[in-house]
Parts: sequence; C-alpha cells; structure tokens
Amino acid sequence: MLEKKLPFDKEQLEQIIEKHPTPFHIYDEKGMLDYAQKFNEAFSWNEGFKEYYAIKAAPNPYLMRLLRKQGFGIDCSSMAELLLAEKVGMRGEEIMFTSNDTPAYEYQKAMELGAIINLDDIKHIDYLEEHAGLPELISFRYNPGTLKGGNIIIGKPEDSKYGFTREQLFEGYKKLKDKGVKRFGIHTMVASNELDADYFVETAEIIFDVIVDLAKELDIRFEFANLGGGIGIPYKSEHKPVNLNRVSEGIKELYEKLIVGNGLDPLKIYFESGRAITGPYGFLVSRVLHIKETYKKYAGLDSCMANLMRPALYGAYHHITVMGKETAPHRHLYDVTGSLCENNDKFAINRLLPEINPEDLVVIHDTGAHGHSMGFNYNGKLRSAELLLRPNGEVVEIRRAETFDDLFATLDFDAANEFE
Ligand SMILES: *Cc1c(COP(=O)(O)O)cnc(C)c1O
Repeated sequence: MLEKKLPFDKEQLEQIIEKHPTPFHIYDEKGMLDYAQKFNEAFSWNEGFKEYYAIKAAPNPYLMRLLRKQGFGIDCSSMAELLLAEKVGMRGEEIMFTSNDTPAYEYQKAMELGAIINLDDIKHIDYLEEHAGLPELISFRYNPGTLKGGNIIIGKPEDSKYGFTREQLFEGYKKLKDKGVKRFGIHTMVASNELDADYFVETAEIIFDVIVDLAKELDIRFEFANLGGGIGIPYKSEHKPVNLNRVSEGIKELYEKLIVGNGLDPLKIYFESGRAITGPYGFLVSRVLHIKETYKKYAGLDSCMANLMRPALYGAYHHITVMGKETAPHRHLYDVTGSLCENNDKFAINRLLPEINPEDLVVIHDTGAHGHSMGFNYNGKLRSAELLLRPNGEVVEIRRAETFDDLFATLDFDAANEFE
C-alpha cells in the first residue's frame, strides 16, 4: 500500500495557521511542477507536444503562471475561463477553447484572443461563422460512440452529450475545407479520472484511425490530435498513478505505425488534463469544531461542502489525515461532516480514523482539482482562501477568503428595505 503523503508536518502547519486561519486549501508548488516536468519529458519525442491545463480544476492566476512557465497552455470552456487566460496575458494558440452549448459571445471572445476553437457540434460551424467568423485553424470534438466503453464519471460515449459522430466529422471537415479553412485539429475525450494507462493508448488509436480515414478521403492535413483530459489520480492509498511513460510509449508506437506509416507526420499531440496537474497537490486544511455521538459518531469540521463538494456530489473518496495522529491506531468509526443543513454534507462516511478531539487539525487530501473551484455559497457559507506552499517553505496567499460583503455584493438592501 502506498502511503498518502503530505508536504508539511503538524508543526509547519501550526505555523502556517498562525497567519492564515482555517479552513483553507494549500497547494504544493514543488509537487505540481515536478509532475508538469514529468509530463513534458514523457512526450518529448513528439515535436510540438503541449498540455493545455484544464483550468476549471483550479482557476487561479498564480497556478496558471507557474504552469505556463512549464510550457503549458490553458484549456477553457467558458467566458470566465477565457477572461482569466486573457488576464494572465495568454493569447493565440496557447489557449484551447473546448466548450459545448456555447453562446455567441464566448466564440467572439475566443476569436478575439486567437484561441484554438474546438467545436462540439456540426451545427456550430454555421453558428460560429455567423457570429464570430471562421478562424484559420479549427478542431472538432469526436465522440466515438459505441467504439469505446466509457467510465463512471463521464459515462458511455454514446450517452454523452459531447462531440460529433464519425459521419459528422467527414461532413464537417469537408464543409470547412470548401469554405477555405486550411488548418485542422481533432479532439476527443472519453475518460474521466481514469487510472488505466492503456485507456489513453486506445483513445489515441481511435483518433489516429479516424485521422487516417479523414486525411485520405478529404485530402486534408491535421496539425494536432488533442487527446483531452481524464488522467486519474490515486485518491485511495491502494491506487497507483497513471504511468505516463507507458501512455507515451503506447502512443508513440501507434504514431509510428498509423501517422508516420501513412505519411501524416508531423502531428502534434496535445492533452487537456486538469485533475492530474493540480489534484494531488492541493489539501483542504480544517479544524475540528465538535465531536457528536448519537447513533453514530460525527467529527464536525470548520469547512463544508462549500469548500469541497466531490464527496457529497458523487460519493468521491478523499483521504483524511488527522495531524499528529498519523501512526495512532485507526479504530474509531466517524462520519466527517460540514455544517450545511444538508445531510449529505459529509467528507467521509463510516471512515476508520484515530480518535478525534475538538481543535484537532484535519487535512483532506487531493483537493487541488475540482475542490475550491466547485464550491458554492449555499447556506451563505463563504469560500476559503487558497494558499501556495513554495519550494523554499514560504507560504503565499493566492486568493483571499470570501467575506460577507462579497456574499451580499449583488443585493441592494436600501432598495429592499424601502420595498412595499
Ligand atoms: C474537464 C475537462 C477536461 C479536464 O478533465 P480532467 O479530468 O480534469 O483531466 C479537459 N477537457 C474538457 C473539455 C473538459 O471538460
């Protein structure tokens, strides 16, 4: 069994808390950047390889800047995400815009920034042309349907709302070619939180196969194949991280056979991974407020679903460490809860942990992706600060905690109090 490690010990954490009250998410810069380097190195055989960080995982400008220095682009799927990319100075083909059910103003913004536009639906060729014009480079999102079995979070491809059918790809690229578009890419994403390396190799095979057929039939050249995101992370201590070298080697073999073998090289390999980039390097730090014993035993924290929704939303497992009690016997069964008036506001159900007392520090692991960013303000709970633990041990607040003024900023109390 692999141990779930922390980048700080109890004493360091107590020092951080002197300046930064709980709850907060803290990100380990070194862990994140080491992984980013490993990702790039694994695919260094492919000229032009690029990972577009799927910014919904942790949309913070500090993290974006650190990752950009590693050569990463940004994968956006909404107006706010495009605006964030713009605000950190990103432009052009460092931005991938992979959206669905897209409003015209988002296409206009993506065009203004020169982003690579990745269409989700064949009808959006006309919609894009009408509202924003056609760019010189376009990509389509392919939904391979029954060609590929799905996984739990994303479901079966044929049931998923995303992408073009195979027939629509042929029709769509032909239409673009006839309209004078010259540069093409293709995208697919059929996994979410997938730990099996072979899954990504199979995905590459599906996309390379369709590139071969499209290139032959339509006489067009593809510049890139974007294999999407979905690389899983070891939330549980018995999980193993995806072996990127194995993914890369499998893809390289297929590249030689299908892409080079058919004279279709060079083809740039892109990913738009989010969870794997920041997920394991974020930690939600809370203090225990109360221990309650009724029919079960509850450890109530000073954080709640507003800070981390995944357990309540889809029963996701997040490892929990009670600081200073790492080696104590895990013999006590707890539900670890937040304070929302929602019975599913729980970080863990029936979890064996050391005996917990009020004031104990509890760290929830792997909150660096879809953690803070997924939070909401139900019950008027405020979202926490985000901190960055730098390689030299320094801690930088990279987002302050929300205040009640933030929460009420959209209300006009004067008008409401005069309202009859
Ligand atoms: C969410 C998403 C990603 C990233 O997925 P991860 O599971 O975080 O790697 C990439 N592309 C698109 C279009 C997405 O919606």
